[in-house]
Amino acid sequence: ARRAVLSAATGPGATADGHPVPLLANIGGPRDLDSALANGAEGVGLYRTEFLFLDRETAPSASEQEEAYRAVFEAFPQGRVVVRTLDSGADKPLAFLPPPEEEPNPALGERGLRMFRRYPEIMTAQLGALARAAAGVSAEVQVMAPMVATVEEAEWFADACRTAGLDGAGVMIEVPSAALRAADLIRVAGFFSIGTNDLTQYALAADRQVSAVAGLQDPWHPAVLDLIATAASAASAAGKGCGVCGEAAADPVLACVLVGMGITSLSMGAPALPWVRAALSRHTLAQCRDAAAAARSVTSARAAKAAAYAELPGLE
Ligand code: PEP
Ligand code: MG
Repeated sequence: ARRAVLSAATGPGATADGHPVPLLANIGGPRDLDSALANGAEGVGLYRTEFLFLDRETAPSASEQEEAYRAVFEAFPQGRVVVRTLDSGADKPLAFLPPPEEEPNPALGERGLRMFRRYPEIMTAQLGALARAAAGVSAEVQVMAPMVATVEEAEWFADACRTAGLDGAGVMIEVPSAALRAADLIRVAGFFSIGTNDLTQYALAADRQVSAVAGLQDPWHPAVLDLIATAASAASAAGKGCGVCGEAAADPVLACVLVGMGITSLSMGAPALPWVRAALSRHTLAQCRDAAAAARSVTSARAAKAAAYAELPGLE
């Protein structure tokens, strides 16, 4: 039966009534491209570039970076590739930099875009390599920053991207302040991509790395759904895209709920793509909206999930 569902859904992502939802892959580098292509990814929604930088004694050279980026861009001549700039921190330190300050809460520390404040030359080098790799390829290349908390940070990043020749820089929505003030942020961002892993961690104040609080790391929580809906509405009002690239996008039922909240693309680990494609193809946009409203009308993650399932027959 599973095979029948899968074979029924091929081609670009869309709801049963034809509302398009591009389905993209999360990748860590060129070695993940085969799986992305085999599972029908329409592009890349999250290229985690930190794998180029971690576990090495010297920074990757400009040409090494360019080559890794171009290999990914060329795999999707018709598609979109969203590159996230380096997302490292005290828990993922860079061996070629002086050891960072000991942090009691690395998730709340100098990570993501914040690290570029101390080392702007690493950002400039990465953006330069991205701009050169993007020149002359037909993929639509977009760049976004992780861990943006304020409008000033988003402006600073967008300016640096423009200077490098990269327009329309995006902002990841992974910090509650960014979601709550999404209407301010979208004025300076080309698009949003919601990182539901971190957004959940920060919304529920439950460290992703601490197993004792793993039960709280649940993107079905209505508080997380509300933050996502706020960001999606702000982007939609501005006529800009708002994707999801956290693990939430890989849950076929939650994927329908996200689409019902106005999310415009979904990016996930490649093996989940066929399941999400199948789930979307079996439900209309109206059903997805009803499922989203139902999930947000209750008071717990568990009840939200049950409410959404009830609106989306055939996914139990
Ligand atoms: C996220 O936080 O949801 C995300 C996509 O980024 P990462 O998992 O790499 O932190
Ligand atoms: Mg994240």
